[in-house]
Amino acid sequence: MRDTLVLNASFEPLSTVTLNRAVVLVLQDKAVVEQAHPELRMRGAAVDIPAPRVIRLCQYVRVPFRRRAPWSRRGVLVRDRHRCAYCGRRATTVDHVVPRSQGGQDTWLNTVASCAQDNHRKANRTPEEAGMPLLRQPFEPTPADAMLLALGQDDFDALPEWLAQSAA
Ligand SMILES: [Zn+2]
Repeated sequence: MRDTLVLNASFEPLSTVTLNRAVVLVLQDKAVVEQAHPELRMRGAAVDIPAPRVIRLCQYVRVPFRRRAPWSRRGVLVRDRHRCAYCGRRATTVDHVVPRSQGGQDTWLNTVASCAQDNHRKANRTPEEAGMPLLRQPFEPTPADAMLLALGQDDFDALPEWLAQSAA
């Protein structure tokens, strides 16, 4: 079962909670449902509501700092919109800019989405060594990307327009 994204009263993404916890927050009037699963419903003795996918807290919670998204292969593909950093075609693999054999790490700034062909061609070389310049530089994920990762989806189209905008 997927987790529910929790937005602050200011619409800022805060964290995720389990679906059950999300329903409890809504039933306790601590949060409102901003987006529900199209088909899934939560049924209980006195409850029959659409399963919330995104809820928003009724009261603003002060957050001392913005949490950074942990690195993951899927996260790199989401950040790069599944576009190869070397040729721009659809990417299904993650390439280390500085190869691991040369000390390259699993970090946002050292990994890019890559098509399998370019990943294989580049092999254990840097872009300079391989003569394969990056079309764009890797970067830390934006809050919108972090939110997509938290939601467990990699498709902006699945989000309401206002949510994608508020996160950008
Ligand atoms: Zn490619």
